[in-house]
Amino acid sequence: MDNLYKQVARTIAANRPCVVLSGAGISAESGIPTFRSKGGLWDKYDPAVYASIEVFNRDPSRYWSIRGEFIRNYHELKPNPAHTAIADLEKSGFISQVITQNIDGLHKKAGSLNVIEMHGSLREIFCLVCRREYLAPEVPEGMPPLCQCGGVLKPNTVLFGEPLPPVALESAYQAAMTCGSMLVIGTSAVVYPAAALPGLAKQHGAFIVEINIEKAFADADAIIQEKAGIALPLLAAEIKALADMRIEEGELS
Ligand code: NAD
Repeated sequence: MDNLYKQVARTIAANRPCVVLSGAGISAESGIPTFRSKGGLWDKYDPAVYASIEVFNRDPSRYWSIRGEFIRNYHELKPNPAHTAIADLEKSGFISQVITQNIDGLHKKAGSLNVIEMHGSLREIFCLVCRREYLAPEVPEGMPPLCQCGGVLKPNTVLFGEPLPPVALESAYQAAMTCGSMLVIGTSAVVYPAAALPGLAKQHGAFIVEINIEKAFADADAIIQEKAGIALPLLAAEIKALADMRIEEGELS
């Protein structure tokens, strides 16, 4: 196992820039249920129904009745050691870009700067009429909550049936096509277009490392089958040790 972390660390250090693609699994250890967690939100409510734009437009209170609590408790959500290790690896120049499917904002809370939130974030909430912006957890009372102007409020997230923001999508494709390695963390790799990114990166020559409690991406070059909150700090420590060794040997890159 030790060897696996060392090998992956060496590969990442040698194949820069490294891009991260993260999914719901990276936030599981922050207490946020994944899509498929037993007993989680989406075990009870079908996301294709409750988180669809069609249902939102017809009856926004249905969406707010299950999402409101999460947004009102937004300030209590805390990044875990996986988010922090990724932010540290960005600061030390090993990770150039985080692409996340998550809407929990935890990569940014952990200090990552270059973050593409492909599906948006629950942090910002907009009035559909006047475009006034509210920041979670500040959301007016009411079901559904309404803007001062009376307009319906909608979080800045991509609901099922909505297109992805074109700029985010284009930036994610660019990052995937130009990276030397990609860390694919805590995603079941079934929700497109994000699920296409590891394949795209691999086609363009990147080395793909999956970190997941179970293998999800068939074409990974290496897999660390472990919880993200355990694996990422260990991997970051190996990468740092490698960098320190190179500095000592005068091999600054
Ligand atoms: P998913 O629920 O389909 O898959 C989660 C993956 O994480 C699984 O492969 C699972 O094996 C793995 N996993 C679970 N716990 C883990 C851990 N501790 N460490 C490492 N891996 C772990 O999630 P997805 O692939 O991101 O796609 C589903 C969609 O759900 C995305 O569009 C996302 O926007 C949305 N979603 C987001 C959040 C969030 O923002 N935190 C939560 C639930 C769902």
